[in-house]
Amino acid sequence: MKIEKNIPDKYLKTYMEEDRPGSAELIAFPTSTEEVQEFVRDAVLQNKTIIPVGSQTGLTSATYPVDNAWLISLEHMNQIHDLDEQTMTLNVQAGVTLAQIRDYLADTPYFYAPDPGNKNASVGGTAGTNAGGMRAISYGVTRDNIRGYDVVLANGEKIHVGSLNKKDATGYDLKDLFIGAEGTLGIITEMQLKIMPRPAYEQSIIMGFASLNGVSNAIFEVVKSPIQPVALELLEESGIEYSEAFINQKMEKVEGEAFLLTTLVDNAPDGLAFQVKAIEELGRRAGATEVRELSPEEAVNMWLIRDNILNGVVAQGDWKMYDPVVPNHEFTDLVIKAKELGTKHRLQTAFFGHAGDGNIHICVMREDQSDEVWEDSKQAYEHDLFPYVSEVGGLLSAEHGVGLEKREYLPYFKDEAYMSVLRSIKSALDPDNRMNPGKMFEV
Ligand SMILES: Cc1cc2nc3c(=O)[nH]c(=O)nc-3n(C[C@H](O)[C@H](O)[C@H](O)COP(=O)(O)OP(=O)(O)OC[C@H]3O[C@@H](n4cnc5c(N)ncnc54)[C@H](O)[C@@H]3O)c2cc1C
Repeated sequence: MKIEKNIPDKYLKTYMEEDRPGSAELIAFPTSTEEVQEFVRDAVLQNKTIIPVGSQTGLTSATYPVDNAWLISLEHMNQIHDLDEQTMTLNVQAGVTLAQIRDYLADTPYFYAPDPGNKNASVGGTAGTNAGGMRAISYGVTRDNIRGYDVVLANGEKIHVGSLNKKDATGYDLKDLFIGAEGTLGIITEMQLKIMPRPAYEQSIIMGFASLNGVSNAIFEVVKSPIQPVALELLEESGIEYSEAFINQKMEKVEGEAFLLTTLVDNAPDGLAFQVKAIEELGRRAGATEVRELSPEEAVNMWLIRDNILNGVVAQGDWKMYDPVVPNHEFTDLVIKAKELGTKHRLQTAFFGHAGDGNIHICVMREDQSDEVWEDSKQAYEHDLFPYVSEVGGLLSAEHGVGLEKREYLPYFKDEAYMSVLRSIKSALDPDNRMNPGKMFEV
């Protein structure tokens, strides 16, 4: 196994910690589960802490190295073993990226549903954060699309969780426990991913609205209708402009201030036509100023703009991002509140989000603020935002996780009794607090 003590800078940083590299003692690049086990056993013998690293596209500093930890990057575990049509699973190593899977399945009639914006993310990392993405409204999040996996525990033992069976009433559900655990309970190494037949026909549509309220009505109408879009995304001028500047490409002109971008799929042209007509009617009834069916080329362009909003935000300078989720009927009020807070705390904001899931991405931008003002305004923004989200029944994170960035706000959402159960699980599986310590919560 390749081990480096001279750690390349990129592993010491995260998206949110660009200027303040952390510290680690070494980084290992295993190629098999056995090597991961060997690494963990060594760390136990030498009493070292371990941080699992995927592709480092995470947005919560969950791979940020502290206390001379031992880093373990899964990027050399990048083999797609096989596609099993009998069980409709794809067997992969955890370092395989979403882009690799997309390309591998391109010549087959199948697809893997989770579709987070960054296709360089590893499947192990997306399991670590329980990533969501554009198609979660229809196909669920990462958790819903993993059938089983091997995980190396904090003592170096390996267990297999999940199974290829459709049902399971055989004791506690350990499969869902390690997903979303941000590497604090074990290292996922080999995975069986659920694949599905690719629908034959699809149509993307964009609807423009004069205000957010119209969008809200449309979202509400769509989610309670029998129409099941595979994506339903909110876009706003603020976010679109960052993306356009980043990819140097303009969005087709659509009348309105706020937009809903949706994709519908079906296996029969008639079925698709029925859905398209129905959703367009819903949009118009909710007050859409323009409803436009996109040609395949326009759709590619529009989704490229959507996928690159965050890249555009990253490129403009310092920023911070929040990904709260609220019950669907609270979605628009959350966006309005988040905007008002931007004005109150003098922070430039940009919004986009998985509208069908009640999940908004809020970006606040530093612009020319001094270090001190930037730190203070972010804190003040967060101290107003999160209690509000909690009050309306929402959650701290929909899909990016907690990591270091949101750790202090977990108590707004989970009471002491709940936190005590989390700590008991952590200490049962990792009594020495070896696995990614300090991420998500302090033991
Ligand atoms: C431009 C952009 C767009 C994005 N869009 C989305 C989006 O639409 N939806 C969304 O959900 N996220 C999105 N993200 C966030 C990010 O892509 C996800 O959080 C992704 O799941 C991280 O995967 P990774 O391989 O980069 O993991 P890393 O960032 O390397 O790690 C993330 C966490 O998983 C743990 N981990 C990594 N590998 C393993 C493993 N093998 N076993 C156990 N734990 C492990 C790490 O310790 C860490 O806690 C976006 C990020 C960017 C930069």
